[in-house]
Amino acid sequence: MLLEIKSAGEPVLREKARDLTRDEILSSTIQQLIENMRETMHKAPGVGLAAPQVGLGLRLAVIEDKAEYMKEIRPEVLKERERRPVPFEVIVNPKLALESAADADFFEGCLSVAGWTALVLRAGQVRVDCLDHRGQPKTIQAAGWFARILQHEIDHLNGTLYVDRMEARSFCTLDNYSKHWKDVPLAEVRRRLAMDV
Ligand code: ZN
Repeated sequence: MLLEIKSAGEPVLREKARDLTRDEILSSTIQQLIENMRETMHKAPGVGLAAPQVGLGLRLAVIEDKAEYMKEIRPEVLKERERRPVPFEVIVNPKLALESAADADFFEGCLSVAGWTALVLRAGQVRVDCLDHRGQPKTIQAAGWFARILQHEIDHLNGTLYVDRMEARSFCTLDNYSKHWKDVPLAEVRRRLAMDV
């Protein structure tokens, strides 16, 4: 079943979500929610979806970055972003540790701020300790685009949106991003947007 994706301005997107117990994770309600979130993420399409985005203040998110999403992106860009396919992941009650400085600067977007994108500095490497869809502990070591997705989704569980972290001068519509910025090297983007002055 497809769920309604909440947009910026919905109070739940600004609240700190609560942990789930292992019994809750195993309940049919949460198992069904995970399936519905997966279907909703695929349909959007998006590479991640956090429970607050479907109106629920729970520390739960789903992630999947499919090879088919990368077909339209130039290989140099994929390489620069360290973007590789990520199989379907469920993360519950995650603890995030940044394992590098905020040294990766790329445009990102959000299904709850649809139609817009902006540059966000993120750590290039992270470690996440969490529970999986069966309530079992797991550790994810991630780099590159996957590390960015994890940081973005875990931000949602803390009531944070990427617009809180974005470099505001780079904020633009997806149409204008495709038209003017998509193929421009980052240093040139920063110069033309007068971001370093
Ligand atoms: Zn988002």
